[in-house]
Amino acid sequence: MDLDKFRRRLLALEDELRQRIEREVESARQTIDEQPAASDQSVVDELKEESFLLADNDRALLAQVRAALKRIEDGTFGRCVVDGGPIEEKRLEAVPWTQYCVKHQEQLEQTAALHTPKL
Ligand SMILES: [Zn+2]
Repeated sequence: MDLDKFRRRLLALEDELRQRIEREVESARQTIDEQPAASDQSVVDELKEESFLLADNDRALLAQVRAALKRIEDGTFGRCVVDGGPIEEKRLEAVPWTQYCVKHQEQLEQTAALHTPKL
């Protein structure tokens, strides 16, 4: 496996995410500042929540990217954290920060779906 290739991709992604989070937080601040005092507070709250939520998703992804970089350093990159088995290289190409093989990712999603209340 070409670890260097994955490291480069992850580092580029880390950089991109960091910049995007900064922009999202900044634009959330600006949106809030630009609201005229008379405007509907609930609209401001909504905008604020939306931007911070976006930043939150990126923060979660950034944490995963950093964990993957650490696994490259540790020499455990490309191994499923559940059973230590190899993660399919195609899967790593698509999602280089993944910590699960296809089998365990599917199991995880099924479990999550079971615990998500349906409306
Ligand atoms: Zn697995």
